[in-house]
Amino acid sequence: MELFRKIFRGRASGTSQLAAQAGRDQVTNSAGGFVYALEPMDRVDRFLILGSEGGTYYATERALTLEGALHLATMVRENGMAVVERVIAISEAARAPKVAPAIFALAMCAGFGDEATRRLALGRGLQAVCRTGSHLLLFASYVEQFRGWGRGLRSAVRAWYENKPVGQLAYQFVKYQNRFGFTHRDLMRLAHPVASDEARAALYAWVVRGTVPADAPELGLVRAFEAAKGLADADLESFVALVRDAKLPREAIPSAWLREPDVWEALLETMPLTALIRNLATMTRVGLLTPKSAATRLVIERLHDAERLCKARVHPIAVLSALETYRAGRGARGSGTWKPVDEVVEALDDAFYSAFSAAEPSGARTLIGLDVSGSMSTGTLAGVPGLTPRVAAVAMAMTHVRSEAHADVMAFSDRFVPLAVSRTERLGEVMRRTENLPFERTDCALPMLYALERRLAIDTFVVYTDNETWAGTIHPDEALRRYRERTGLWAKLVVVGMTSTGFTIADPNDPGMLDVVGFDAAAPALVADFSKPAAA
Ligand code: CA
Repeated sequence: MELFRKIFRGRASGTSQLAAQAGRDQVTNSAGGFVYALEPMDRVDRFLILGSEGGTYYATERALTLEGALHLATMVRENGMAVVERVIAISEAARAPKVAPAIFALAMCAGFGDEATRRLALGRGLQAVCRTGSHLLLFASYVEQFRGWGRGLRSAVRAWYENKPVGQLAYQFVKYQNRFGFTHRDLMRLAHPVASDEARAALYAWVVRGTVPADAPELGLVRAFEAAKGLADADLESFVALVRDAKLPREAIPSAWLREPDVWEALLETMPLTALIRNLATMTRVGLLTPKSAATRLVIERLHDAERLCKARVHPIAVLSALETYRAGRGARGSGTWKPVDEVVEALDDAFYSAFSAAEPSGARTLIGLDVSGSMSTGTLAGVPGLTPRVAAVAMAMTHVRSEAHADVMAFSDRFVPLAVSRTERLGEVMRRTENLPFERTDCALPMLYALERRLAIDTFVVYTDNETWAGTIHPDEALRRYRERTGLWAKLVVVGMTSTGFTIADPNDPGMLDVVGFDAAAPALVADFSKPAAA
């Protein structure tokens, strides 16, 4: 019968992925395949970095969030100090695309943790993780579900205000007045920060009572902010002068003025890089960014400044998201159209790679396996429209292709899927090709079998997947061991998890297998470090 001939397709046979391997402690994934449970702290990492926004093919956003939060709660109760340290480390290195999961975890530690955990969370944790006024307001909105406004919490918030230099604090207040249902006025009334000098007292009085500070030189920004509100009928020239002199941030500009290219030009002078990246479309739409304009040159220069990108903690996803929106020429929420400037698109493409932590090439012969099966096309990373796990995986694959001398890419579902990727190619083109691939079943053993069949010498397999493998006649780790036996090469496997579930195809007892979180800004560096041959 023809059907019987197709079942094994001449592939290496081993243990069906629908059964557990003998003598190995395996669990079933959401697809019914047998895989491994991710180490509990690695699962915390996935939650902190990937969050749960957009859900997965198998779980709604709500279910995935609940599952991640419950796991986190268990970890906080068992080893809260380690969780806080993890939250601080990931946050300080700007490894996650979004801050919300880290702030949520910190709030949980501040409520559910033991005394030492709570103290660490509210002390060093709050100062390190909540860097902006917006972060603090988000923290306040989360923490109430875990605890009340007792003394510990109130004094932590008080310290947050009191520790910030007054000029910086004024900037935060002007920029983020009201977020997530909280205002700084609300928090100050709870925390009662004490003013150590007149300028600070004047700033607090402005927030709490609305009194515009008269003469403190540190509070020029606040006065300009108030003045800007009253300049509705002013001439453009005096308004632009105000923006330029006071270095007002975009958030402080009444919306009527945001149609003026001259206002944007003044804003651009001191615009933080994250804001610059987010506002490229608007600056193009209002006519400030045109091919070869001075403003365009300035933007490109800043996007090419790798050191500046790193200092501004710009996450590669923010760049990718801006790239996708910008090159489309129209807003996702129907916020007008613009004509993308090619040089800006190219600069964003380059900035994507420089936004990752620098990776020292490993020199390893690397095969990157991209799971492009059906389940990888549902859900989004960091809530970026269109950025499904499989599109995100191919963008990540480009980082290896660009940095490693011997890196090749293969794509698979339950069979090999032709997907050519070259190091000179632009991100957008590669991502577009990925979107149109058919939806099929999943067999994560294929990268190893592919290398065996083609007699490829590989030092490291890097598999980007959601770990929902089930449609194979040999397990991925089993296929790796077979590859090692047949070739005599002790190849390693790095599993880059693209969803924040608790599954992995990596055998936790094998030192040659590693779990990395997809779209960790440190992922390429972690992969390269692990791939380096051990020192002789
Ligand atoms: Ca799948």
